[in-house]
Amino acid sequence: KALRKAIIAGNWKMNKNRKEAAELINALKPIAADKTCGVIICVPFTNLETALSLTEGTNIEVGAENVHFEKSGAFTGEISADMLTEMGVKYVIVGHSERRQYFGETDETVNKRTTAAIEAGMTVILCVGETLAERELGITEEVVAKQVKVALHGLTADQVKNIVIAYEPVWAIGTGKTATAEQAEEVCAFIRATVASLYDQAIANGMTIQYGGSMNEKNCAELLAKENIDGGLIGGASLVAEKFGVLLAEA
Ligand code: PEP
Repeated sequence: KALRKAIIAGNWKMNKNRKEAAELINALKPIAADKTCGVIICVPFTNLETALSLTEGTNIEVGAENVHFEKSGAFTGEISADMLTEMGVKYVIVGHSERRQYFGETDETVNKRTTAAIEAGMTVILCVGETLAERELGITEEVVAKQVKVALHGLTADQVKNIVIAYEPVWAIGTGKTATAEQAEEVCAFIRATVASLYDQAIANGMTIQYGGSMNEKNCAELLAKENIDGGLIGGASLVAEKFGVLLAEA
């Protein structure tokens, strides 16, 4: 664990206009400044420019919340990886459960988006996680293993070094229900073993694997202390600078 980089990434989702984004980033800058973990804020496309300019020269990195897999063309409403990198955006979330649930994202489209972003030189925060029904059926490992395998299909060992996996049980996202530290650790360790089986142990040992799902300033210490949990993907608690700051301090 000591060899891996802990990363706390905020996922703002569809929140904050430009003015609100600037306020939050300005509040976050002094809080983040002395922290040793990686700090990323993933913001709506409309806030990328503001976020990039306000974080210049700081330890806060900026990410997008989605990316399309084609380079350009007739894909109304979509944004390509080249468009993001040209702006200076180096990080992107792919396969968030909200995109899988509400926007028809599948393991196959997650693989295409991941591949496009990696080929453009970005670092991908790849989200995986089971639904409540899947957990109750006892097929969590099967579901997560398939999500990881399909998402990484075709990527070389070198390319996988630019992947961060976020384990986000769907039943814990935005629900206030957090996985117990033991439940989260168990699946994060399983994901690491899956990556080792697809690549090798060294790649798996070096991969940052986050937990996400109602992680906040109150419950983060126990989760972040676990051997296989290298930070978190944070929704609600990333929208308040002081709360996000507690997570940065614990990671
Ligand atoms: C998320 O959006 O990835 C997330 C984990 O949200 P929340 O922290 O609000 O559950």
